[in-house]
Amino acid sequence: MKEVIYPKYIFFTGGVISSVGKGLTAAAIGRELKERGFSVVIQKLDPYLNVDPGTMSPYQHGEVFVLDDGAETDLDLGHYERFIDNRLTKESNMTSGQVYAEVIGKERKGEYLGGTIQVIPQITDEIKRRILLVAESSHAEFVLVEVGGTVGDIESLPFLESLRQLRRDIGQNNVFFIHATWLPHIGATGELKTKPTQHSVGELRSRGITPNMIIARSDYPIEDALREKISLFCDVDCDYVIPVITAQSLYEVPLLLEAHGVGEKILDFFKLKRRRKPDWTDWEKIIDAEKNPTHHIKIALVGKYVELHDAYMSVKEALKHASLNQKAKVEILWVHSGKLEENIGWDLIQSADGILVPGGFGHRGIEGKIKAITYARKNKIPYLGLCLGMQLMVVEFARSILNQPEANSTEFSEDTPYPIIDLMPDQKNITDKGGTMRLGLYPCFLKKDTRAYAAYSQECVEERHRHRYEVNNIYREELEKAGMIFSGQSPDGVLAEIAELKDHPFMVGSQFHPEFLSRPNRPHPLFSDFIKAVIARIT
Ligand code: GLN
Repeated sequence: MKEVIYPKYIFFTGGVISSVGKGLTAAAIGRELKERGFSVVIQKLDPYLNVDPGTMSPYQHGEVFVLDDGAETDLDLGHYERFIDNRLTKESNMTSGQVYAEVIGKERKGEYLGGTIQVIPQITDEIKRRILLVAESSHAEFVLVEVGGTVGDIESLPFLESLRQLRRDIGQNNVFFIHATWLPHIGATGELKTKPTQHSVGELRSRGITPNMIIARSDYPIEDALREKISLFCDVDCDYVIPVITAQSLYEVPLLLEAHGVGEKILDFFKLKRRRKPDWTDWEKIIDAEKNPTHHIKIALVGKYVELHDAYMSVKEALKHASLNQKAKVEILWVHSGKLEENIGWDLIQSADGILVPGGFGHRGIEGKIKAITYARKNKIPYLGLCLGMQLMVVEFARSILNQPEANSTEFSEDTPYPIIDLMPDQKNITDKGGTMRLGLYPCFLKKDTRAYAAYSQECVEERHRHRYEVNNIYREELEKAGMIFSGQSPDGVLAEIAELKDHPFMVGSQFHPEFLSRPNRPHPLFSDFIKAVIARIT
């Protein structure tokens, strides 16, 4: 028998408009392959010139997703990890900015020996090098690569050109192109239109790429005649035009693709046989819980970017995972922290069964968040604080219980007389040079007989971080005497990782971001216990 050559590559492009779920489709297809026994890695190519999304506004870009190695990445990597259940590395997110910085850096060092530097071949070579690097370092059998934006954008041209070249370099039989498009619905005639799809495929073909599969997205059912039409105009086999109607839950997407045999079709193209039968039991359970929940719960999420829910993507998903696994449907009440300061939004806080303060930076809305925390503490409402949400829980405690009304984080008040949250002494010098963050995976030891320990049932855990400030150790003893427990800390005991309150049904804050490690079928222990406390309160 002929030996199969790995890896196989699947490239995803988008047409017509963005935000039609190309990233989700890529993630779901990764799952299709994983369910069939293949190893998968996935990479996002972002066309913008920023070097990474770490410093981009959440308003423009949504959440910054953090990986084990500390890479600050596009939120699509969160979908990838949640769907494929892999731990990705910094190589999985490439931006045009990184590519240009690398090439220009080399040019400055004279590495091109005075040659002319151009998009083709120097930039495209660097793009290809980075794609092949992911393949090499992951040893995955399938390498999935998603190009951000839509075909026709000026910025993404070098990416498309690189993919075209790669198909040539690697061999036609080892590369599969999937194009995700949108079929607009014309209200007056009740029709779905394929013309924009035809144009976007036309544009792609003018770049030398004919897709092997089209994912046709729509809010309305797509008749077979329309698939035929797309097939005819776009030169894609009708079987490979996959209709994907907007799902109620994003966790339905793999099942929708399964229903259309997408996994098998891709394997057929590569002349591969599945190694095992996909098992969707866990996914079906979640979807069933979403459709037939036993409980309905409301969680107030108090943040400053609440207008854009994408800014809290992983928190939103982690809440869903924990709730659905306990047959509860969660409604998130989006509470604007700045408005709470003006006394707007308290009705939402009062109607919530649980309160969550997520991560954040900068002073805007801080006092609103602290007020919400006071409310949760006094009224014994289950509370979960993530990163900033933990720091503010400590500030609130110092102000109210230790009678230090001026207690604050030096992030918000540099000359507070009671800097309960502060930079570590050895960090201060670094900050003078522009600042640095504690990023990525760090171990945390848990104290027995605490809520944290009860949640994890483990002595040592590893969690992802993205912050600069820490609980100030000078005040730890005082806080502990007054009833705050530091139930998680760094192995050397220097950094407080988890804070919780004794006399409260559930008031827990973590300096790390548990939301990044939650999976649909494996909710994060802290989120699970938070939701358990919420359900216990209402039942
Ligand atoms: N701004 C805080 C810090 O830098 C919290 C960061 C966060 O919530 N991710 O420490």
